[in-house]
Amino acid sequence: MASTNASVVFSGSKAVTSHEEEHPVKAFGWAARDNSGHLSPFNFSRRSTGEEDVRLKVLYCGICHTDLHNSKNEWGSASYPLVPGHEVVGTVTEVGSKVKKFKVGDKVGVGSLVGACHSCDDCSHDLENYCPKLILTYGSLYHDGTMTYGGYSDTMVANERYVIRIPDNMPLDKGAPLLCAGITVYSPLKYYGLNEPGMHIGIVGLGGLGHIAVKFAKAFGCKVTVISTSPAKKKEAIEHLGADMFLVSRDEQQMQVEYVAWYSHAF
Ligand SMILES: [Zn+2]
Ligand SMILES: [Zn+2]
Repeated sequence: MASTNASVVFSGSKAVTSHEEEHPVKAFGWAARDNSGHLSPFNFSRRSTGEEDVRLKVLYCGICHTDLHNSKNEWGSASYPLVPGHEVVGTVTEVGSKVKKFKVGDKVGVGSLVGACHSCDDCSHDLENYCPKLILTYGSLYHDGTMTYGGYSDTMVANERYVIRIPDNMPLDKGAPLLCAGITVYSPLKYYGLNEPGMHIGIVGLGGLGHIAVKFAKAFGCKVTVISTSPAKKKEAIEHLGADMFLVSRDEQQMQVEYVAWYSHAF
């Protein structure tokens, strides 16, 4: 063949389909091409909507610190081009014939996972996040052998098992961070029974996770103490997020007084 098809790129001597042509549905996103931390426009493609798939128009996507680590390959596992984003929210535009939970127009989200083996012990206990073959929302190989791309893009498709309904009364932009940062702190609070009114909860660190933990704990009716290295966060903790107390962890005296107070109260 004399001419080179534009949809084909060559890897060694083997021709492979380009990112734009490997699937039938056109998609646009922002991708890291190297570890510089810069993202640039990226034309790629998504699979067609399978029987159990939900397709959504992405309207917002949270920026998780994991996205920064992966974009810069700080964990050594990045595969470029890499489209980050695993706090993805939008509206359903198409559903597969066997989809039961969603219909076109629904507000939905996709978090960190889009697949797993569904046959191991963890999967059988609804713990796909521990599955040795879990498939991450971006930077993983999907069941069909193609790379997964995240939510810094205009469209997304996922098996309905990995799609979450966003209540109609929740603004989508506010809902996005719940899909990674939110569940990361909600899950342990719930799992360890730290969600009873009247409990006194300490939240260490007031970053992306900590501030959501404070909001959950307050919503559960708990008393909340924020423990931070930075005195500058006191105003935000108390006035903006509604924490009851604030301790500077680098202030030994403060910590000691609190420890003694707790210890004498506990025994
Ligand atoms: Zn995350
Ligand atoms: Zn599994």
